[in-house]
Amino acid sequence: MEQNVVLEEEGLVEIQEVWTESLKRVDGQIPAHIFTSMIAPLKPVSCDDDTFTIGAPSSFAKDIIATKYVEILSTAASEVLGRPLKIVLTVATPGEIVESIGMRTGVSEKPSVQTSSRLVPEEPGFPKKFTFDNFVVGDSNKFAYHAALMVAEFPGDKYNPLFIYGGTGLGKTHLLYAIKDYAEKMTPNIKVKYVQTSTFIDEFIATITLKRDKASFDQKYINNKIILFDDIQALSGTDATQGKFFDIFNLLYGSNSHIVLSSDRPPSEIPQLADRIRSRFEGGLQIDIVPPDLETRLAILHMKARAEHIEIPDDALIYIASKVKDNIRSLEGLLNRVVASARLYGTRIDLAMVQDVLKDQVTEPHQSRTPSADVIQNLVANYYDIAVYDLTGKSRSRPLVHARQVAMYLCRDMTDATLIAIGGQFGGRDHTTVIHSCRKIESLIKTKREIFQEVTELTNMINKSV
Ligand code: ADP
Ligand code: MG
Repeated sequence: MEQNVVLEEEGLVEIQEVWTESLKRVDGQIPAHIFTSMIAPLKPVSCDDDTFTIGAPSSFAKDIIATKYVEILSTAASEVLGRPLKIVLTVATPGEIVESIGMRTGVSEKPSVQTSSRLVPEEPGFPKKFTFDNFVVGDSNKFAYHAALMVAEFPGDKYNPLFIYGGTGLGKTHLLYAIKDYAEKMTPNIKVKYVQTSTFIDEFIATITLKRDKASFDQKYINNKIILFDDIQALSGTDATQGKFFDIFNLLYGSNSHIVLSSDRPPSEIPQLADRIRSRFEGGLQIDIVPPDLETRLAILHMKARAEHIEIPDDALIYIASKVKDNIRSLEGLLNRVVASARLYGTRIDLAMVQDVLKDQVTEPHQSRTPSADVIQNLVANYYDIAVYDLTGKSRSRPLVHARQVAMYLCRDMTDATLIAIGGQFGGRDHTTVIHSCRKIESLIKTKREIFQEVTELTNMINKSV
């Protein structure tokens, strides 16, 4: 690469090249999960004689990189350019954040297309460890992930307390354990305590009722650099324990320990929680984890399949991912069922096998956002490259009929509309026509992979657009 490369007219392209080359040099010097989640999404912004400005997707990322990795990056960029260069970090705009964080490359790499898979190996499943490395980052959990990582790296620094909330099976406990694992690796003598809030309550009550030593109870909790209270909503309605918790919280906070809390709901929605505790929770950073999109669910399945050395074709994974939408534990459960069956009967895992094993599994209803019939019709028309009025019109030409049936099926599957209402949306058709269309597509999905793919892609597009 030439010396003056970034000063040339076509600056931006050249800067990108310098940056890409620099990244190649630092890969391997930075822990893989940091590299993929924080370094890879960085974008070069500008460069002058001695300063290279780089945009970070969030202030968490910026803080971590500025403190720990900026030297390595500066050295790499200086080597590439052949002159000393200082890296300066800025935070990119929110629009860019969504675009750039995306999925970690380690788990989202394009899977190889296969038509059949080899037999599942005999070994039993591996014992599960919750770490940042095996936490798949997607749009649904990226802020929680980055905040958790920040705590693990710089306990007591910022975002104290960190309050992570979200539905069950979305990775809260996983993140809490990952903080402990990572902080202990980074700082060998650090004291980190993970506790289920219900255990904390039980121990406290036992201390009181059995007249145990109160000081040793306190010590167990106070004497930590990071304390992780899982499922803190359990404090609801426990007056005496809340008093003790409040004291411990204040002592920890006062000694600059980091307090991380997980909950199935935000502080404002925990009933029977003392106001003074609620306001402590609200005084730090609150972050929610929402249900993962299809892409993230697939990445999770890919990662788990890889960890277990199982090969599963993409269409089969898509099928599993489409069955469970808002609980990763259930998603893993389905994969485990498939794997168990394959081991049990010595069968190959392919779409037909998965469909058979999961045939009684009811697809979860769509939880939050319901698309309108208009949105579905527009996307379907666009997908098949036809006009919306053809979709709702009278023509019986074969491609139109197919697109229409798919659109009706999706309206039935993804909205709460009645059969009669759906018929009405499609040019006043009778509800029996809607039933026929839905049955037809349902059976095609089961027998024809192209149709399964079409419907899956459309479902994904519709979900993304609402
Ligand atoms: P919660 O505490 O929110 O109920 P858990 O942390 O127990 O959920 O997660 C449920 C299961 O899903 C665990 O096996 C966990 O490893 C897995 N899981 C959740 N989120 C992810 C993720 N982003 N990447 C990989 N596995 C995940
Ligand atoms: Mg949990």
